[in-house]
Amino acid sequence: MKKRAIVLNCPIDLYNADEAINEVRCALNEKRNFHIITINPEMIMNAQKNKPFFDIVNNSDMNIIDSVGVKLALKFQGINQNQIRGVDFARLLVKEAAQKNLKIVFLGAKEEVIKKTCENFLRKYPSLNIVYARNGYFNNDEEIIEEIKCKDPDIVLVGLGSPRQEEFIVKLKTKLQGAVMVGVGGSFDVFSGIVKESPKIYQKLGLEWLYRTILQPERFNRIFPVLPLFLIKCIIDIIAKKG
Ligand code: UDP
Repeated sequence: MKKRAIVLNCPIDLYNADEAINEVRCALNEKRNFHIITINPEMIMNAQKNKPFFDIVNNSDMNIIDSVGVKLALKFQGINQNQIRGVDFARLLVKEAAQKNLKIVFLGAKEEVIKKTCENFLRKYPSLNIVYARNGYFNNDEEIIEEIKCKDPDIVLVGLGSPRQEEFIVKLKTKLQGAVMVGVGGSFDVFSGIVKESPKIYQKLGLEWLYRTILQPERFNRIFPVLPLFLIKCIIDIIAKKG
């Protein structure tokens, strides 16, 4: 049965990585389109003020916890659920594609990043069936969607940043049949080796955001007003619901 929680009116699926991959396998077996959001506080806050994005978050097929902020918000509700890092989940999907000979698409990031990502994955999985790979700097969405449609992919990883990647997937979803589509944010930067992955200790402590902010200080402005505001809003919401 589907285990779901709600954080600020956004559904969150309470799955560990194995359960999430099982959902993916079911969708692939049943040839259902399946949109996965790896959700974080910035996205939930964006959904509060951006109705079209709120609708996307509420109509996706699975929203998995990609952030310690969402994990904390669930803890306030008495729910203990670990996060599945988006980058780890994307890796699992690539592994699944390699093992089951599925057709995979990589869309997003800079040209050298996506090239290096393909090289690295093909070195690891020589038989990986990458049917389409393209950098994420384009504005002819309809043409790109047609190109992807022609490849009839099983798995599509889209790393354009949020909300662009989710908006793109919603349009793509109407054209594909039986495809698993997931927004992977900056994961290609990590897969290419161009951005260093946070050390295990930061991941374990849920401080990956801190590591990334140290490496890219420009992220500070993006994360900082949002994270405390998100947590305060979650607490107010819980108090209001109890009252
Ligand atoms: N990006 C892109 N096209 C754009 C803007 C961004 O492909 O028009 C890529 C960018 O190169 C990076 C990713 O989208 O690889 C966004 O990464 P970010 O760190 O913002 O995402 P997060 O991991 O924080 O969700």
